Amino acid sequence: MKLYPLFADLSGRAVLVIGGGAVAERKVATLIDAKAQVTVNAPELTPQLRRWVDKGVIAHRRDAFQETWLDRVWLVVAATSDREMNRLVAALAELRRIFVNVVDDAELSSFHVPAIVDRAPLTIAISSGGTAPMLARLVRERLEALLDPSLGALTTLATRLRSRIRERLPDMSARRRFYEHLFAGPVAALLRQGRPQEARRAAERALFVEAEVTAGSVVLVGAGPGDPGLLTLRALRALNEADVILHDRLVSDEVLALARRDAERIEVGKQAGNHHYTQDAIHALLLEHARAGRRVVRLKGGDPFVFGRGGEELEFLRKHGIAYEVVPGITAALACAAYAGVPLTHRDHAQAVRLVTAHCQGSHGSLDWNALAQERQTLAVYMGVSELEAFRERLVAHGRASSTPFALIENGSRADQRVVTGTLANLPERASAHAVHSPALLILGEVAALAESLAWFGQPPLGEPAAEVRSVRPSRRRVIAPGRTDVLAAIHQA
Ligand code: SAH
Repeated sequence: MKLYPLFADLSGRAVLVIGGGAVAERKVATLIDAKAQVTVNAPELTPQLRRWVDKGVIAHRRDAFQETWLDRVWLVVAATSDREMNRLVAALAELRRIFVNVVDDAELSSFHVPAIVDRAPLTIAISSGGTAPMLARLVRERLEALLDPSLGALTTLATRLRSRIRERLPDMSARRRFYEHLFAGPVAALLRQGRPQEARRAAERALFVEAEVTAGSVVLVGAGPGDPGLLTLRALRALNEADVILHDRLVSDEVLALARRDAERIEVGKQAGNHHYTQDAIHALLLEHARAGRRVVRLKGGDPFVFGRGGEELEFLRKHGIAYEVVPGITAALACAAYAGVPLTHRDHAQAVRLVTAHCQGSHGSLDWNALAQERQTLAVYMGVSELEAFRERLVAHGRASSTPFALIENGSRADQRVVTGTLANLPERASAHAVHSPALLILGEVAALAESLAWFGQPPLGEPAAEVRSVRPSRRRVIAPGRTDVLAAIHQA
């Protein structure tokens, strides 16, 4: 079945809806939005339909359907549960050459009502030709996620400026550049922030100042811990608009796969012992691409402002007059805690959380160990795998009980997540017995003990290593425990 897509102007035009139930109500709602003159024919109405009738928004005919009513309407919707009735209405409408939609009956319908994404005045209609309405709904949900709600306001702004744009930019390719700037640059950003007047002024300025249009911009985006489901909608939208993506090594392939297909991807990761991009080199790249007029996404694992040097990058961009935005991400501490079943605070166990890094020996000196060693608080330690021994020593020396539980989470939220548990007393030994590697996050504190009972994702926590595990080489450590873990991992990967 091949359908001709059509957007109909029903404003002030008569439409008859037969049926007064929930389905009829849904159809009437969109018809009211389109300013149609709706008459509902049914003995009984839903409370909402009743309210519309009482307010004079729609008309109501209670008596039995009469063929002659069709003479004055443009469209008919049959939404009764009586198939014979629907069939009759469809046949009579056909005779009069009036389009009819019979709800949930593609065969009897001469027009279908598509699934829509409403960014008025922009409307996206999706149809599966009546064959797979669920699929159309799925596509609709995807598009809903992709398209920012401010797109409607952006469309209105573009419409208002349209004749001035034509006048000012007669050349087609200059116009296209301008529209691209309008739809994915600072004007759109201002609308997202709910600042329509400023957006309008920025758009008008860009009409006269060529440099505004050709200016690139940078969005600093948090990619979360790895599971692409933990990306924010705004991050997804930024990835879809990017010309260039500068990403860390920590960003998962699954997340990168969601980015615009033709976006250039550049890995600027800093691998331990292999700093192939210095921070200065990353700054230089950001500047180069933004100055060339590109929309740059600087994509970082977790959140860009948590041990991500996001602050330094913004300072640099600010200094060079490059426009930027920041999209937060789910930081490793939050993600690992959630995916290991460790609540970071708990009324019975911890009233505070600290995010700390134990990265380099140098930084140990500057940490307040007395504060870190306090009870009833949770430490989330980033980049700490190689520092565990020194970490234990300091904490115990400052009074933290060596019986304090820990959970060490490797590859948190990913299919190959592992959680190693124990107490401060055996922390470095457990980590090395299980050959824990970066990226791993340490959660230390009373709450960590809850991992044993609340774990839900991936394989169960690994405690004391069994004798044979102790001798396992790193290459074998990824053997996943049997049972639900394999299934979860498979689903996750799919
Ligand atoms: N900006 C990032 C942190 C970067 S520092 C964020 O907000 O998460 C890198 C450290 O983060 C790693 O050494 C590790 O401690 C932690 N980390 C990041 N992703 C992780 C993951 N998926 N699982 C465990 N730890 C992770």
